[in-house]
Amino acid sequence: MSVDKEESVKKLFTAESAKVDTNKGDAYYNELYISCQKRIEDLRKLAPLNNRPDFTESIEDQGLERRDFLKWASATTAMLMLPASFTPLVADAAVLMNRVPVIWVELSDCAGNSEALLRSDGPKIDEIVLDIISLEFHETLQAASGHQAEKQMNEAMEHFKGKYLLFVEGAVPLGMNGNYGTIGATGETFVDHLHRAAEGAAAVVAVGSCATYGGIPAAAPNPTDSVGVMDVVKGKPIINIPACPANPSNMVGVILHFVLTGTIPELDSLLRPKFAFGYRIHDNCERRAHFDAGEYVEEWGDEGAKNNFCLYKVGCKGPMTFNNCSIIRYNEGVNWPIGVGRGCIGCSEPDFWDKYAYERPMANANIKAPTGGVEKTVDEFGLGLLTAAGVGIAIHAAASAVAGKKEADEKEDGGEY
Ligand code: SF4
Ligand code: SF4
Repeated sequence: MSVDKEESVKKLFTAESAKVDTNKGDAYYNELYISCQKRIEDLRKLAPLNNRPDFTESIEDQGLERRDFLKWASATTAMLMLPASFTPLVADAAVLMNRVPVIWVELSDCAGNSEALLRSDGPKIDEIVLDIISLEFHETLQAASGHQAEKQMNEAMEHFKGKYLLFVEGAVPLGMNGNYGTIGATGETFVDHLHRAAEGAAAVVAVGSCATYGGIPAAAPNPTDSVGVMDVVKGKPIINIPACPANPSNMVGVILHFVLTGTIPELDSLLRPKFAFGYRIHDNCERRAHFDAGEYVEEWGDEGAKNNFCLYKVGCKGPMTFNNCSIIRYNEGVNWPIGVGRGCIGCSEPDFWDKYAYERPMANANIKAPTGGVEKTVDEFGLGLLTAAGVGIAIHAAASAVAGKKEADEKEDGGEY
């Protein structure tokens, strides 16, 4: 989330609309606050992994001021559905992001999520935060290749066993015994690669619609029998961050939540963080007033299009789609698909390519008029029971380096957190 967009985001993520769960009550948040404080203190005692850049220096290098950072922390606290009193802790957690090791693997993908992670026409705070995470392995971003890359990954998995967050980008082809996708000199199948990488992970984060639900590789007739990560990995906490591509702000949010609390965020029935996917596009759309007034774009380029009318009749699937891109937008908050006149294609929903990615309205959408502006969650739409949330994960401190940054190898483990 960019500093520029902080005001609009704050407006949308007020204590009321950000759905801080008031049912949990003061006692719950007091206890959470104390445990987060303790975790921050423990993290602070650890050396940064991999000699990552210093956060404060990075902020200054980009010409940003501390008050910009604090504004960002305030908006991010609201985005994470935490009370405003948590803002200083969120700021501390951002500075300490370099204490948690991350391994990123790519399977059947286009690397679009890695691209989203990298975009930088003028680094803002989200990007700086992503810069300082301890990315121990990322085959596209690192210099090493071939046997050397395999060695680095093996070393990272071994060294940070039970401690790292595994980010997975891309679908998992299961057809032909998994041989539609292989990796490395040994020809390891993607599915075996995933099993091996997930085994030692503290939690698995599926990034983008292909990793979450199979995405485009799994579109009909799905010749490679592709599936998402959650269909393959069992017995590990899994967090899905769908969309095509996943929004970097949501990646930051998941890692920050983990750094701050040591737990994964509360999830919906599709294992998506509620802080990001508890919002329906249609309920936060700037064209919603036109929908309610019956003012539609009837065909591309007509008067309705010129007047930014609702895109439902030309196929917008915002009413069926849960994502916060209508609030935080893309490209540092510059704009989003509907903002530039293109209907939502439901990219954060399962099977979106087959179900939603066409330019006709859903025949049986049964859309109702607004009933007071309260967003429905996917679960309120009756798609399933809530998944157990806030799974605690012990992640252990470590302070040695892999992925070509061996200087830190001599450092000793700094404790358990
Ligand atoms: S149908 Fe699409 S364009 Fe129209 S209000 Fe809903 S989300 Fe916005
Ligand atoms: S507007 Fe719809 S299709 Fe576009 S990024 Fe958001 S959820 Fe995906």
